[in-house]
Amino acid sequence: MNKKLFVISGCSGVGKGTVLKNFMSRNSDNFMVSISCTTRNPRPGEVDGVNYFFVSKDEFTRCIEENKFLEHAQFAGNYYGTKKKFIAQKLEEGMNVILEIETQGALQVKEQMPEAVLIFIAPPSVEELEHRLRGRHTEDEEAIQKRLHEVKIELERSKQYDYVVLNDDVERATVELETITRKELGL
Ligand code: 5GP
Repeated sequence: MNKKLFVISGCSGVGKGTVLKNFMSRNSDNFMVSISCTTRNPRPGEVDGVNYFFVSKDEFTRCIEENKFLEHAQFAGNYYGTKKKFIAQKLEEGMNVILEIETQGALQVKEQMPEAVLIFIAPPSVEELEHRLRGRHTEDEEAIQKRLHEVKIELERSKQYDYVVLNDDVERATVELETITRKELGL
């Protein structure tokens, strides 16, 4: 059976990581989350080759020039990208692949692979989102302001997605994600 590419986006702090973790805890048999390249520094606890491939700006630029990315984007001052080869290999190995990427990249994927399914995880409210973002204590004020600006742009782009899942409750949002993926895979 053909395997599919699912693209999941959501504003910073929306809890898409938690929903995805919950989803993967019960669907890891036939789904895998892609590992992206980024030029940002690792956060405490992040491991190269597990959370991201942490690369230099030079290396990232070289990959762009060599056309190695399925999509790539600049987000909050850093570069992020998905390698074509990584995705092709995983689909060939028989896994459904999930990309957890921001919206510019997601729309590039849709152009390259119209069969990809785009799912946007939406926050219950922007105020709630700001609260969660500050609660993480992983970014300084300037970085938070940058990310809040991105939120508005991302909400606008979500109109072009195939599905929007409201993350009012992690378990409910996870079940909705499971329903969508099962439907898309014809299960
Ligand atoms: P963070 O720095 O918090 O890990 O990620 C910042 C944003 O970059 C998130 O919205 C995340 O989904 C997105 N992102 C992570 N990897 C990629 C990628 O390969 N391509 C794109 N376009 N965005 C990515």
